[in-house]
Amino acid sequence: MNTSDSAVKTLLGDLDFDPSQLKQKYLAERDKRVRTDGNEQYIEVTAEFSKYVEDPYVEQPIEREPLNDEVEVVIIGGGFGGLLTGARLREAGFEDIRVIEKASDFGGTWYWNRYPGAMCDVESYCYLPLLEELGYIPQHKYSFAPEILNHSRNIAKKFDLYNNACLQTSVTELRWDEAQSRWHIQTDRGDNMRAKYVAMANGPLNRPKLPGIPGINDFKGYTFHTSRWDYSYTGGDSSGGLTGLKDKKVGIIGTGATAVQCIPHLGEWAKELYVFQRTPSSIDERNNQPTDPEWAESLTPGWQQARMDNFNALVSGGEQEEDLVHDGWTDIFRNLTGTAAKIASRKLGRRLTGAERAELMELSDYQKMNGIRQRVDELVEDGNTAEALKPWYRQFCKRPCFHDEYLDTYNRPNVHLVDTHGKGVERMTENAVIANGKAYEVDCLIFATGFEVGTSYTRRAGYDIIGKNGLHLSDHWADGVRTLQGLSSHGFPNCFFLGFTQTAITVNVPHALNEQAKHIAYMLSETRRRQKNTLEVTAEAEQDYVDEVRRLAKVGARFYAECTPGYYNSEGKQGNNAGFFSDMHGAGPIRFYEMLAEWRDEGNLAGMALS
Ligand code: NDP
Repeated sequence: MNTSDSAVKTLLGDLDFDPSQLKQKYLAERDKRVRTDGNEQYIEVTAEFSKYVEDPYVEQPIEREPLNDEVEVVIIGGGFGGLLTGARLREAGFEDIRVIEKASDFGGTWYWNRYPGAMCDVESYCYLPLLEELGYIPQHKYSFAPEILNHSRNIAKKFDLYNNACLQTSVTELRWDEAQSRWHIQTDRGDNMRAKYVAMANGPLNRPKLPGIPGINDFKGYTFHTSRWDYSYTGGDSSGGLTGLKDKKVGIIGTGATAVQCIPHLGEWAKELYVFQRTPSSIDERNNQPTDPEWAESLTPGWQQARMDNFNALVSGGEQEEDLVHDGWTDIFRNLTGTAAKIASRKLGRRLTGAERAELMELSDYQKMNGIRQRVDELVEDGNTAEALKPWYRQFCKRPCFHDEYLDTYNRPNVHLVDTHGKGVERMTENAVIANGKAYEVDCLIFATGFEVGTSYTRRAGYDIIGKNGLHLSDHWADGVRTLQGLSSHGFPNCFFLGFTQTAITVNVPHALNEQAKHIAYMLSETRRRQKNTLEVTAEAEQDYVDEVRRLAKVGARFYAECTPGYYNSEGKQGNNAGFFSDMHGAGPIRFYEMLAEWRDEGNLAGMALS
């Protein structure tokens, strides 16, 4: 990129950095981390590692006989996707619904992620679903986890989803019975249920993963994954008070969005805390605030959808007269996406060329990340620690984090950052973690190492789906996801996938799930209205959609190729199309939801065969 005298450079004014030097630094930091094993570096939580996914939050084990019955709709998963589907189906008049959930309660990710400090990092007034339907206003701009879990339970109560639910139950197989036009659902409870429709809301980041560290089994100390926090060991609860750690040397592996939220609490309570870092996160300010009661009073009907739409537009490069949410997310997107290009075009009095647009994005990104790095210098007292906490990559290479106590935690004398210079932890022994050739003795090691991405859908779900003519979904999707509108697949009638299978992605995940739930409710209502039994995507419609997704999905490939590895870019492995954003619909969420609405308005269920 030649920035000298370019129109974009003139617009941005004098740059106090050398873009080409920064680019070289970013590429060097990426190269330090790229590994040939990509996703294979992680351990699947099966066999001797299955203890890492046991449910530590069960209050009362449920005893029941196996079921051999039939319901109209089975929803698998009681997180936001399942709750929204249940709610929208109830509104559409469906009564015979059963939610199957492996946890003991509704809540999904908020059931599992109870680690200290857990909170949502998208504004709660947009993030918590169905606020107006429940007449509820969150207590803070960013809600803490217990409030979100409680809200999930309240949604389930409001829409009568506890009724007939099967909690503490894991699906083991779904099989289509062509003769009866019904799904047979097997579970680990010996159930053999039948359902006319099934909707799968398994969650996009539902399966914890562990780092494949040599010697991981040799370690004799206490271990757990952050999504199964063991308060019986640490003491306290998700608001902190980890008194059990007062005399413990604690290690934590990982410095992603989860670790950023729990490390301040670990730092406060552990006798010694060792944070094993491979790549630092970018940490911007959070600035959480209690909800202003006057503002809450002033809200008028329709406010939540309007706010969600406003946020969605702003974080999708769209323009709005007002930024209602006005936070770190809208700020980043304003400066680093199409919005910035539009503003620049106006100033220049002409459209930017493709090269100018790319230059503007890159330079603005450098400016933003320079600010993030400067914030580290301002908050972290020790120079070496500060240097190690600086992220050297573009803002969207990894999930941006927002936190007001994380960086300061490293000023505590008991908190030690063990920066592994991109290499990760080397090895574990009976009582220690080895990094940079040095042994760090710990009593407890916490894995904040995230969740499976890029493994097969059926592996992450934990069951296969066998459709018409014995077709396994794992085979049908062996070369990539195949759907219409991200929701259903040829050969799998009356079956729907919620989440991130060939759909549009947005920062506010529940917004996407709500659009999907509305669309599913529409399809089921129409099938019922037309007195039909089955609804199936045609092979042609599926192929056309797959072609469209692949054509549009090329956008961003170059961006991620230059990124430091992570689950956004399939751990830096290029070309295998398995990163978190691959196979998403490239039209972006605004246009995508419009497309779904237009399809519904047309009213002919285009691409679907009914029988
Ligand atoms: P991530 O996948 O983001 O982070 C995993 C961490 O483990 C990374 O820092 C990774 O380093 C590190 N790691 C993996 N293997 C090793 C190793 N061998 N040695 C040392 N370090 C290692 O998982 P999270 O649970 O933090 O977050 C997952 C997602 O969950 C987030 O991106 C976000 O979407 C969501 N989330 C949302 C929150 C919210 O507020 N709404 C809060 C928390 C999470 P490296 O970067 O080098 O790979």
